[in-house]
Amino acid sequence: MNDAPVLITGGRVVDPSRGLDQGLDVLLRDGVVARVDERIAAPKGATVVDAEGLVVAPGFVDLHVHLREPGYEYKETIATGTAAAAAGGFTTVCSMANTSPVVDDAATASFVVRRIRETALVRVFPIGAVSKGLEGKELAEIGLMKAEGIVAVSDDGRPIASGLLMRRALEYASMFDLPVVVHEEDPSLVAGGVMNEGWASTRLGLPGWPAVAESSMVARDVELAALTGARLHVAHVSTRGSLAAVRRARAEGVRVSCEVTPHHLTLTDEDVARSAYDTRFKMNPPLRDEADRAALVEALADGTIDCVATDHAPHHDDEKAMEFAAAPFGVTGLETALAVLVDSFVATRLLPLTRLVEVLSTAPARLFGLPYGTLAEGAAGDVVLFSTDRWTTFSSFRSRSRNSPWADRTLRGRVERTFVRGREVYAAGGPGVVTPASA
Ligand SMILES: [Zn+2]
Repeated sequence: MNDAPVLITGGRVVDPSRGLDQGLDVLLRDGVVARVDERIAAPKGATVVDAEGLVVAPGFVDLHVHLREPGYEYKETIATGTAAAAAGGFTTVCSMANTSPVVDDAATASFVVRRIRETALVRVFPIGAVSKGLEGKELAEIGLMKAEGIVAVSDDGRPIASGLLMRRALEYASMFDLPVVVHEEDPSLVAGGVMNEGWASTRLGLPGWPAVAESSMVARDVELAALTGARLHVAHVSTRGSLAAVRRARAEGVRVSCEVTPHHLTLTDEDVARSAYDTRFKMNPPLRDEADRAALVEALADGTIDCVATDHAPHHDDEKAMEFAAAPFGVTGLETALAVLVDSFVATRLLPLTRLVEVLSTAPARLFGLPYGTLAEGAAGDVVLFSTDRWTTFSSFRSRSRNSPWADRTLRGRVERTFVRGREVYAAGGPGVVTPASA
């Protein structure tokens, strides 16, 4: 790689992989972190980036995004989704298998890997389906897809209703040391619910999706993980009951991890009421009540929840412009995640900055065994520069869709620059920040 070296000076380097939080310079060269030190002299020809007042962290890693390609390119593509990722400070994302066709065999996995190579702006690792066609009946070609580069398996978007299939999936995936990522809902208990079952759904007259439909499935699956010794990763936990099941299982040594979304950490079912049935507040699992939301924040701080994942789920305006009950589930999240978390938890001191970077970067990378989430010398030159003081107004998006509860809102926290392999893939703009080195 012949790119000019990049010297990032004067920033606050937060690297949880090495317990670093101090003012340091970072030199990126030949696609990797060449040096992290106090005052590094600019090498000849280097681009110098002034990071005074900014946090310099390993690029964010999102284990849960829907890039919609192939099949739903009108919602998002690998190109637009990864442009959104770069704007959000994410340098690595893992894409879910519920495309059309579903990523359930080697040929489709290979096609997706090729499209990633041709069009992605950041690193993308595909997740393969657990079952053929996400139908929950027959296992997908897990071993063959692993050879194509999948990093986990999941039927996300749908639960694995059959306990027997779930057991087989755990057994089979563990042969390839792949985590099984589960979207937990008991369909018989959800029974057509469209928002959290509670006082808000009763008042609004909408069918409720009860918390127990999630937690009962988590309880089943941690037992199956214990039985099989496999790695279970619970996607988008949203209830106190799910957290209790995860805590119990962990205490018994079960290999279970879990993620939470920015929206479940910050919004509740009362937001559905306040927004007067705005479908940008409709997602699966649904926004829960305040007690659940507060429990999720506590669990993220105390380590019960391993990481944040956005569950970026783009939908076209026309699809979301329907009555609440009929609209599809899902919200976008890549571009807003950092500001949502900074605004709600860092500015308010509910979450230390080092923990914020850990849950967005170091922890998710470790969970899927990806060699990112660190600024160790020799590591990938994947870096994000962000501000915890500057504000972002989300008036436009790089994503092809804009189904975000934060559209047109202004939040504290701003991604300033994103680098992948030592090369800038996003800059928030503003003159006079980059200066060519004179030396
Ligand atoms: Zn899901």
